[in-house]
Amino acid sequence: MAGLTIYNTASAVPPVVAGVSNPLVPLAEKGPFAPEFGTEEDLADTGLPADGPGEDYEGAENGDANTDTDNGAASDNEPEPQWEPQPWNVGRGPNWTDRVLLTYDDCIADPDRLIEVLDHATNLDIGLLIFPHGNCWQMYNRWGLDLNQIIRERGHWVGNHSNTHPDLTRLSRSQVISQITGPVESNLLRPPFGAFNAMVTEAAESVGMRIVFWTLDTNDWRGGGRSEDRVVAEVLERAEPGDNVLMHLQHAGFSVSALDRIHAGLGERGLQLCRPAPPDQRPTPVQVPDNIC
Ligand SMILES: [Zn+2]
Repeated sequence: MAGLTIYNTASAVPPVVAGVSNPLVPLAEKGPFAPEFGTEEDLADTGLPADGPGEDYEGAENGDANTDTDNGAASDNEPEPQWEPQPWNVGRGPNWTDRVLLTYDDCIADPDRLIEVLDHATNLDIGLLIFPHGNCWQMYNRWGLDLNQIIRERGHWVGNHSNTHPDLTRLSRSQVISQITGPVESNLLRPPFGAFNAMVTEAAESVGMRIVFWTLDTNDWRGGGRSEDRVVAEVLERAEPGDNVLMHLQHAGFSVSALDRIHAGLGERGLQLCRPAPPDQRPTPVQVPDNIC
């Protein structure tokens, strides 16, 4: 992107990693609700698709999700299944169940819309896993808003997505740790572009974090952003029990109507979505439980 400017801040924002493309821009240049903040435009010069698999990725996408049941729905009369602890599954992340987990990366540059969609998800009894990047946190912080709190107090969960959205596999180990220990505090890391390798995994583990990839990619960012119809169709036609669905906050899958349609359409297929934390367990903790669904 043109005219990179690192802006001066006295707040608790981690240092920018030297040599890493930094999409931070002064808000004065873009206005407070610049819609393109932190989108794939900023990522274009990396030559990687937004959150596409990294070179060293070996294929969790079609991994060992538990699909041995015909129907993820439980009737009101059946007791909830008791899920045994599982070894960490990078593809599925914190979902040990047959429910479908909706996850959203990056940033939405309109707090009102963010809150509207999060509240709507809570009201539909859908729990979302959100991976905002540090730039997003910083933007909200400059408006006096606590992005992490906004998400957690509505019963949703927060994961880390780096600070400035670099390809972590191209950084040194210490740079990786700087990138993933920023203001979006969490024990979960979704690497930008889905790019990770043994070094990134080890660096994350050294600071108590685990990698989360996905099992169903909606490719919602393609072509500048697919239509809501297309993104919803990707989910409704392809979702299987236990899936971990990748979408982005700034694209069409993050809307009240998209959530309504996904909720209703999966329900028709007998699939249920992950739930938010119960009211007495909000805000959700920084340490995301192993199984949130
Ligand atoms: Zn991303």
